[in-house]
Amino acid sequence: MDCLFCSIINGTIPSTKVYEDDNCYAFRDINPQAPVHCLVVPKTHIESLDSVTDENSATVAKVLVAIPKIAKLLGLSDGYRVISNVGENGCQSVHHLHFHILGGEKLAERMC
Ligand code: AMP
Ligand code: ZN
Repeated sequence: MDCLFCSIINGTIPSTKVYEDDNCYAFRDINPQAPVHCLVVPKTHIESLDSVTDENSATVAKVLVAIPKIAKLLGLSDGYRVISNVGENGCQSVHHLHFHILGGEKLAERMC
């Protein structure tokens, strides 16, 4: 399967690692939309939040548990925003579930 984020996870494509555990991988976004912009992905391929099931929900939950740890590593003590784009109308461009962590400044009250 040809998936950009699977290739990043297995090291075929380089990335700037922020955090890694058995279940998830976090790395800097190549085109940051805020002073701090990191992506957190499950190591197993799940298309998007629209593909979460009873079977894979434990994996997704572990990604969520990692997010505050990653935010702490990134120094986001004053808060941050987490976004997951889903599908065509959500403007998802990489079809491997990922959570954007954005922060490092006071973000816009609305994203669009
Ligand atoms: P989305 O539009 O929600 O699917 O987000 C995909 C994100 O992946 C975008 O913010 C891109 O900037 C980011 N991205 C694409 N290619 C890379 C890469 N090679 N390394 C890091 N981030 C990437
Ligand atoms: Zn993938």
